[in-house]
Amino acid sequence: MKFSGKNVLITGSSRGIGAEIAKVMASYGLKVWINYRNGEAEALNVKKAIEELGGVADVLGFDVSEESAFVDAIKKIVEADGGLSYLVNNAGITNDKLALRMSVDDFMSVIEANLKSAFMGCREALKTMSKARFGSVVNVASIVGESGNAGQTNYAASKGGMIAMNKSFALEGASRGIRFNTITPGFIATEMTEVLKEEVKAAFVSKIPLSRFGEAKEVADAVAFLLSDHASYITGETLKVNGGMYL
Ligand code: NAP
Repeated sequence: MKFSGKNVLITGSSRGIGAEIAKVMASYGLKVWINYRNGEAEALNVKKAIEELGGVADVLGFDVSEESAFVDAIKKIVEADGGLSYLVNNAGITNDKLALRMSVDDFMSVIEANLKSAFMGCREALKTMSKARFGSVVNVASIVGESGNAGQTNYAASKGGMIAMNKSFALEGASRGIRFNTITPGFIATEMTEVLKEEVKAAFVSKIPLSRFGEAKEVADAVAFLLSDHASYITGETLKVNGGMYL
Protein backbone atom coordinates (compact mmCIF):
# COMPACT_ATOMS: atom_id res chain seq x y z
CA MET A 1 0.00 0.00 0.00
CA LYS A 2 1.18 3.55 -0.73
CA PHE A 3 1.52 6.26 1.93
CA SER A 4 2.55 9.86 1.25
CA GLY A 5 2.92 10.50 5.01
CA LYS A 6 5.86 9.54 7.20
CA ASN A 7 4.71 8.79 10.73
CA VAL A 8 1.71 7.57 12.72
CA LEU A 9 0.53 7.66 16.32
CA ILE A 10 -1.65 4.74 17.37
CA THR A 11 -3.24 5.15 20.78
CA GLY A 12 -3.55 1.99 22.88
CA SER A 13 -1.05 0.05 20.78
CA SER A 14 0.68 -1.96 23.50
CA ARG A 15 -1.54 -4.96 22.70
CA GLY A 16 -4.60 -6.20 20.80
CA ILE A 17 -5.82 -4.38 17.71
CA GLY A 18 -3.57 -1.35 18.31
CA ALA A 19 -0.39 -3.46 18.44
CA GLU A 20 -1.37 -5.11 15.16
CA ILE A 21 -2.04 -1.72 13.53
CA ALA A 22 1.41 -0.61 14.70
CA LYS A 23 3.07 -3.65 13.13
CA VAL A 24 1.17 -3.31 9.85
CA MET A 25 1.93 0.42 9.53
CA ALA A 26 5.62 -0.18 10.31
CA SER A 27 5.71 -2.84 7.58
CA TYR A 28 4.81 -0.09 5.08
CA GLY A 29 7.85 1.94 6.16
CA LEU A 30 6.17 4.43 8.48
CA LYS A 31 7.66 5.51 11.77
CA VAL A 32 5.27 4.27 14.42
CA TRP A 33 4.56 5.87 17.81
CA ILE A 34 3.29 3.22 20.22
CA ASN A 35 1.09 4.47 23.05
CA TYR A 36 0.07 2.73 26.28
CA ARG A 37 -1.28 3.76 29.67
CA ASN A 38 -0.07 0.99 32.04
CA GLY A 39 1.55 -1.64 29.84
CA GLU A 40 5.06 -0.24 29.27
CA ALA A 41 6.66 -3.69 29.02
CA GLU A 42 4.08 -4.77 26.43
CA ALA A 43 4.62 -1.55 24.46
CA LEU A 44 8.40 -2.13 24.47
CA ASN A 45 7.77 -5.65 23.16
CA VAL A 46 5.78 -4.25 20.24
CA LYS A 47 8.63 -1.81 19.51
CA LYS A 48 11.14 -4.69 19.63
CA ALA A 49 9.03 -6.83 17.29
CA ILE A 50 8.83 -3.94 14.80
CA GLU A 51 12.58 -3.26 14.98
CA GLU A 52 13.41 -6.94 14.49
CA LEU A 53 11.60 -6.72 11.16
CA GLY A 54 13.56 -3.59 10.18
CA GLY A 55 10.87 -1.06 11.11
CA VAL A 56 11.13 2.14 13.15
CA ALA A 57 9.12 2.68 16.34
CA ASP A 58 9.10 4.71 19.52
CA VAL A 59 7.09 4.40 22.71
CA LEU A 60 5.05 7.19 24.31
CA GLY A 61 3.19 6.39 27.54
CA PHE A 62 0.24 8.66 28.39
CA ASP A 63 -3.40 8.47 29.42
CA VAL A 64 -5.51 9.46 26.40
CA SER A 65 -8.31 10.73 28.64
CA GLU A 66 -6.03 13.46 30.07
CA GLU A 67 -6.07 16.54 27.89
CA SER A 68 -2.67 18.00 28.82
CA ALA A 69 -1.02 14.58 28.38
CA PHE A 70 -2.52 14.11 24.90
CA VAL A 71 -1.61 17.66 23.82
CA ASP A 72 1.98 17.23 25.10
CA ALA A 73 2.33 13.88 23.34
CA ILE A 74 1.40 15.34 19.95
CA LYS A 75 3.80 18.24 20.58
CA LYS A 76 6.63 15.79 21.34
CA ILE A 77 5.96 13.88 18.11
CA VAL A 78 5.87 17.08 16.04
CA GLU A 79 9.14 18.23 17.63
CA ALA A 80 10.81 14.88 17.00
CA ASP A 81 9.56 14.22 13.45
CA GLY A 82 8.62 17.68 12.16
CA GLY A 83 4.90 16.81 11.97
CA LEU A 84 2.29 14.09 12.32
CA SER A 85 0.93 12.42 9.17
CA TYR A 86 -1.51 9.89 10.62
CA LEU A 87 -3.40 9.25 13.84
CA VAL A 88 -5.37 6.19 14.90
CA ASN A 89 -7.63 6.75 17.92
CA ASN A 90 -7.71 3.12 19.02
CA ALA A 91 -7.39 3.14 22.84
CA GLY A 92 -10.62 2.01 24.45
CA ILE A 93 -12.13 0.34 27.47
CA THR A 94 -15.35 -1.34 28.53
CA ASN A 95 -17.11 -1.20 31.89
CA ASP A 96 -20.16 -3.38 31.33
CA LYS A 97 -23.28 -3.41 33.50
CA LEU A 98 -27.00 -3.42 32.87
CA ALA A 99 -28.23 0.19 32.72
CA LEU A 100 -30.35 -0.28 35.82
CA ARG A 101 -27.15 -0.92 37.81
CA MET A 102 -24.93 1.56 36.01
CA SER A 103 -23.84 4.63 37.98
CA VAL A 104 -23.11 7.92 36.26
CA ASP A 105 -19.44 7.35 37.12
CA ASP A 106 -19.56 3.97 35.34
CA PHE A 107 -21.10 5.70 32.34
CA MET A 108 -18.68 8.61 32.27
CA SER A 109 -15.56 6.48 32.76
CA VAL A 110 -16.14 4.92 29.34
CA ILE A 111 -17.16 8.18 27.68
CA GLU A 112 -13.94 9.82 28.95
CA ALA A 113 -11.65 6.97 27.88
CA ASN A 114 -13.24 6.33 24.47
CA LEU A 115 -15.07 9.43 23.21
CA LYS A 116 -13.42 12.40 24.95
CA SER A 117 -9.99 11.00 24.10
CA ALA A 118 -10.92 10.58 20.43
CA PHE A 119 -12.21 14.15 20.34
CA MET A 120 -8.93 15.48 21.74
CA GLY A 121 -6.91 13.34 19.34
CA CYS A 122 -8.93 14.51 16.31
CA ARG A 123 -8.73 18.15 17.42
CA GLU A 124 -4.96 18.09 18.01
CA ALA A 125 -4.41 16.19 14.75
CA LEU A 126 -6.51 18.73 12.86
CA LYS A 127 -4.42 21.58 14.30
CA THR A 128 -1.05 20.13 13.42
CA MET A 129 -2.05 18.47 10.13
CA SER A 130 -3.64 21.74 8.96
CA LYS A 131 -0.16 23.27 8.82
CA ALA A 132 0.96 20.59 6.37
CA ARG A 133 -2.45 20.54 4.64
CA PHE A 134 -2.14 16.77 4.74
CA GLY A 135 -3.17 14.01 7.11
CA SER A 136 -5.50 11.14 7.76
CA VAL A 137 -7.18 9.96 10.95
CA VAL A 138 -8.96 6.69 11.72
CA ASN A 139 -11.21 6.36 14.75
CA VAL A 140 -11.69 2.82 16.00
CA ALA A 141 -15.34 2.64 17.08
CA SER A 142 -17.34 -0.61 17.28
CA ILE A 143 -20.28 -2.56 15.88
CA VAL A 144 -21.88 -1.80 19.26
CA GLY A 145 -21.94 1.90 18.34
CA GLU A 146 -24.17 0.98 15.38
CA SER A 147 -26.36 -1.79 16.81
CA GLY A 148 -26.41 -1.14 20.58
CA ASN A 149 -25.80 -3.96 23.05
CA ALA A 150 -27.43 -4.90 26.35
CA GLY A 151 -25.03 -4.25 29.22
CA GLN A 152 -23.06 -1.67 27.24
CA THR A 153 -25.07 1.58 27.23
CA ASN A 154 -21.87 3.48 28.13
CA TYR A 155 -19.73 1.74 25.50
CA ALA A 156 -22.43 2.01 22.80
CA ALA A 157 -22.84 5.73 23.51
CA SER A 158 -19.08 6.31 23.33
CA LYS A 159 -18.70 4.42 20.05
CA GLY A 160 -21.87 5.82 18.45
CA GLY A 161 -20.60 9.27 19.44
CA MET A 162 -17.29 8.57 17.71
CA ILE A 163 -19.09 7.68 14.47
CA ALA A 164 -21.09 10.94 14.45
CA MET A 165 -18.16 13.06 15.65
CA ASN A 166 -15.93 11.63 12.92
CA LYS A 167 -18.36 12.88 10.24
CA SER A 168 -18.19 16.40 11.67
CA PHE A 169 -14.38 16.33 11.77
CA ALA A 170 -14.40 15.07 8.16
CA LEU A 171 -16.40 18.14 7.13
CA GLU A 172 -14.06 20.49 9.01
CA GLY A 173 -10.89 18.79 7.76
CA ALA A 174 -11.75 18.37 4.07
CA SER A 175 -10.80 21.87 2.90
CA ARG A 176 -7.44 21.42 4.67
CA GLY A 177 -6.69 18.11 2.95
CA ILE A 178 -7.28 16.02 6.07
CA ARG A 179 -9.44 12.88 5.99
CA PHE A 180 -11.28 11.39 8.97
CA ASN A 181 -12.76 7.88 8.85
CA THR A 182 -14.18 5.42 11.34
CA ILE A 183 -13.85 1.70 11.50
CA THR A 184 -16.40 -0.45 13.32
CA PRO A 185 -15.00 -3.86 14.22
CA GLY A 186 -17.33 -6.66 15.21
CA PHE A 187 -16.08 -9.29 17.66
CA ILE A 188 -12.30 -9.54 17.40
CA ALA A 189 -10.11 -12.01 19.30
CA THR A 190 -8.16 -9.83 21.79
CA GLU A 191 -7.87 -9.51 25.58
CA MET A 192 -11.02 -7.34 25.49
CA THR A 193 -13.12 -10.28 24.23
CA GLU A 194 -11.02 -12.99 25.92
CA VAL A 195 -12.84 -12.21 29.19
CA LEU A 196 -16.20 -13.32 27.73
CA LYS A 197 -17.52 -16.69 28.94
CA GLU A 198 -17.27 -19.54 26.38
CA GLU A 199 -21.07 -19.81 26.08
CA VAL A 200 -21.32 -16.05 25.44
CA LYS A 201 -18.62 -16.31 22.76
CA ALA A 202 -20.43 -19.25 21.14
CA ALA A 203 -23.71 -17.29 21.14
CA PHE A 204 -22.02 -14.38 19.36
CA VAL A 205 -20.31 -16.68 16.82
CA SER A 206 -23.71 -18.18 15.96
CA LYS A 207 -24.81 -14.67 14.91
CA ILE A 208 -21.75 -13.99 12.70
CA PRO A 209 -22.31 -14.98 9.03
CA LEU A 210 -18.56 -15.69 8.60
CA SER A 211 -18.89 -17.99 11.68
CA ARG A 212 -15.85 -16.80 13.66
CA PHE A 213 -14.40 -13.89 15.60
CA GLY A 214 -12.18 -11.61 13.51
CA GLU A 215 -8.40 -11.35 13.89
CA ALA A 216 -6.71 -8.11 14.95
CA LYS A 217 -4.70 -8.20 11.71
CA GLU A 218 -7.93 -8.08 9.69
CA VAL A 219 -8.87 -4.83 11.44
CA ALA A 220 -5.33 -3.47 11.05
CA ASP A 221 -5.35 -4.05 7.29
CA ALA A 222 -8.61 -2.11 6.97
CA VAL A 223 -7.22 0.76 9.07
CA ALA A 224 -4.08 0.86 6.90
CA PHE A 225 -6.22 1.09 3.76
CA LEU A 226 -8.23 4.03 5.15
CA LEU A 227 -5.03 5.86 6.13
CA SER A 228 -3.31 5.15 2.81
CA ASP A 229 -3.25 7.07 -0.48
CA HIS A 230 -5.55 4.39 -1.91
CA ALA A 231 -8.39 5.87 0.17
CA SER A 232 -7.66 9.44 -0.97
CA TYR A 233 -11.31 10.13 -1.93
CA ILE A 234 -12.82 8.53 1.19
CA THR A 235 -13.66 10.74 4.16
CA GLY A 236 -16.40 10.74 6.80
CA GLU A 237 -16.94 7.04 6.10
CA THR A 238 -17.71 4.25 8.56
CA LEU A 239 -16.20 0.93 7.47
CA LYS A 240 -17.61 -2.23 9.05
CA VAL A 241 -15.17 -5.07 9.76
CA ASN A 242 -17.58 -7.47 11.40
CA GLY A 243 -17.88 -10.70 9.39
CA GLY A 244 -21.34 -9.65 8.25
CA MET A 245 -22.76 -9.54 11.78
CA TYR A 246 -24.43 -6.14 11.32
CA LEU A 247 -25.01 -4.74 7.82
P1 NAP B 1 -7.40 -4.28 24.45
O1 NAP B 1 -6.78 -5.57 24.02
O2 NAP B 1 -8.11 -4.22 25.74
O3 NAP B 1 -6.28 -3.13 24.37
C1 NAP B 1 -6.62 -1.82 24.73
C2 NAP B 1 -5.43 -0.91 24.52
O4 NAP B 1 -5.83 0.43 24.88
C3 NAP B 1 -4.26 -1.25 25.39
O5 NAP B 1 -3.06 -0.97 24.68
C4 NAP B 1 -4.40 -0.28 26.57
O6 NAP B 1 -3.15 0.04 27.17
C5 NAP B 1 -4.93 0.93 25.85
N1 NAP B 1 -5.64 1.90 26.70
C6 NAP B 1 -6.81 1.74 27.37
N2 NAP B 1 -7.13 2.86 28.03
C7 NAP B 1 -6.15 3.75 27.77
C8 NAP B 1 -5.91 5.09 28.16
N3 NAP B 1 -6.76 5.75 28.95
N4 NAP B 1 -4.80 5.71 27.71
C9 NAP B 1 -3.92 5.07 26.90
N5 NAP B 1 -4.10 3.79 26.49
C10 NAP B 1 -5.19 3.14 26.93
O7 NAP B 1 -8.47 -3.78 23.37
P2 NAP B 1 -8.70 -4.20 21.85
O8 NAP B 1 -9.64 -5.33 21.81
O9 NAP B 1 -7.41 -4.29 21.12
O10 NAP B 1 -9.52 -2.92 21.34
C11 NAP B 1 -8.90 -1.82 20.71
C12 NAP B 1 -10.01 -0.88 20.25
O11 NAP B 1 -10.91 -1.58 19.39
C13 NAP B 1 -10.85 -0.32 21.40
O12 NAP B 1 -11.20 1.02 21.13
C14 NAP B 1 -12.09 -1.19 21.37
O13 NAP B 1 -13.21 -0.53 21.92
C15 NAP B 1 -12.23 -1.44 19.89
N6 NAP B 1 -12.99 -2.63 19.55
C16 NAP B 1 -12.59 -3.87 19.97
C17 NAP B 1 -13.34 -4.97 19.63
C18 NAP B 1 -12.97 -6.36 20.03
O14 NAP B 1 -13.77 -7.27 19.81
N7 NAP B 1 -11.80 -6.60 20.60
C19 NAP B 1 -14.51 -4.80 18.87
C20 NAP B 1 -14.88 -3.54 18.47
C21 NAP B 1 -14.11 -2.46 18.81
P3 NAP B 1 -2.86 -0.31 28.73
O15 NAP B 1 -2.91 -1.78 28.85
O16 NAP B 1 -1.51 0.27 28.99
O17 NAP B 1 -3.98 0.36 29.50
